[in-house]
Amino acid sequence: MESNPQIVWDNCLNFVKDNIQTQAFQTWFIPIKPVKLQEDVLSIEVPSKFFYEWLEEHYVKLLKTALTRELGKSARLVYVIRMENSFGNQQPHTQQIPSNNRSIRGAQEVDAPLNSYAGELKNPFVIPGIRNLQIESQLNPNYNFENFLEGDSNRLARSAGLAVANKPGGTSFNPLLIFGGVGLGKTHLAHAIGVDVKEKYPEKTVLYISAEKFTQQYVDAVKKNTRNDFIHFYQLMDVLIIDDVQFLSGKSGTQDIFFHVFNHLHQNGKQVIITSDKAPVEMQDIEQRLLSRFKWGLSAELHLPDYETRVSILKNKLYNDGVEIPEPIIAYVAKHIKSNVRELEGAIISLIAQSSFNKAAITLELAKEVVNKFVKNTKREVSIDYIQKVVSEYFQMDVDTLQSKTRKRHIVQARQLAMYFAKKFTKASLASIGSQIGKRDHATVLHACKTVDNLSFTDKQFRKYVEDLNQKLTL
Ligand code: ADP
Ligand code: MG
Repeated sequence: MESNPQIVWDNCLNFVKDNIQTQAFQTWFIPIKPVKLQEDVLSIEVPSKFFYEWLEEHYVKLLKTALTRELGKSARLVYVIRMENSFGNQQPHTQQIPSNNRSIRGAQEVDAPLNSYAGELKNPFVIPGIRNLQIESQLNPNYNFENFLEGDSNRLARSAGLAVANKPGGTSFNPLLIFGGVGLGKTHLAHAIGVDVKEKYPEKTVLYISAEKFTQQYVDAVKKNTRNDFIHFYQLMDVLIIDDVQFLSGKSGTQDIFFHVFNHLHQNGKQVIITSDKAPVEMQDIEQRLLSRFKWGLSAELHLPDYETRVSILKNKLYNDGVEIPEPIIAYVAKHIKSNVRELEGAIISLIAQSSFNKAAITLELAKEVVNKFVKNTKREVSIDYIQKVVSEYFQMDVDTLQSKTRKRHIVQARQLAMYFAKKFTKASLASIGSQIGKRDHATVLHACKTVDNLSFTDKQFRKYVEDLNQKLTL
């Protein structure tokens, strides 16, 4: 009988290869190393517990058949799990799974003993997205390019998205960062790219995930001590889409892991797509090294759609829903709802709902009523001027004093508070806030926001200022 583990394993691989799909073979069998052959016991090294579980769950029969062909009926398989405590230079160490518990012996035993192992190797990592062989992409097919209407407001981002979908990882738009305010189509566009990649390259592994869910999974992985499996999973992606990356603000552990996953994917020519509600320069509490990575590719902004685009988005939506509404009404809604696309859609949906509840036709009167309610209910945006006025009044100074160059502590604090609230309550960029509050630069505004955060934590009196002002501004 052959006694070289490599030769035995190579023969097994040849057999396995003929019996499963290429991608599955690449993913689950290529990383395996045969390490030892003692009589009819072959030890193979797998990269993680997750890997081992996957093999056991999906390929145990195949492995058994392959091994029996090579080593005969009494063939047995032992997994050696390679574990790294952390990234980088830590010494890898291994864990052997006892052969009497986890081995392949007689045919009738293959299925039975699999569940009998009572050690701690219970399902180390289940990601909801994994089903069978394929990794479920978590993409929403309703968010595609076809119904992502083009306008001046989104042309750059949309065409960059198309370019990326045509050649994932193969353009200089890597990462592609899509940013813009709420309801402007970031999530829609991100899905559209993924959906298009899947259509053009069905064999590619694509995953859409919100930064929030990514964080939850990571926290779970840390708790369960399966950090490696978590990383390994994300490193399998050809296209990774992370939505609302600003959610990672201040979460340094998750940022760290994302940094490593990002580097791995990027170095291997895989595509990363990120969305954020802010431009990279304005992201707070995101590590510099991560921010600088975001700038490697292309940052494309989604702006407020202009009137024409709003009309075509509405028409497209109505057409898809099979609803007909007279032109002037569409025009009226498009003219009055300018804040974002989500609200535009919301208004038209409630208009349709109103009319069907009351069994009334959709008239301009009804449209006015609905739009009025809609505009009133959506929080009006306070202006930076208004914020400066409220803050100055509160501290009994005039706006000129608040904006002046003085370093007197109470004036500096008032100015910082005005900047802080401008950031909190308006969509203005740091640079634009700075230029409107005493001609300062964006770094000064950023510093002000951080100072207010810190002081309201450590200084009781200061926290009272923040609370009072917050109340005045949200009334
Ligand atoms: P964001 O993620 O930026 O908050 P979404 O992607 O969730 O915004 O978009 C909000 C809604 O507006 C979604 O229903 C989306 O389909 C729609 N939408 C946004 N932009 C467009 C567009 N250009 N064409 C058609 N629908 C759009
Ligand atoms: Mg979104």
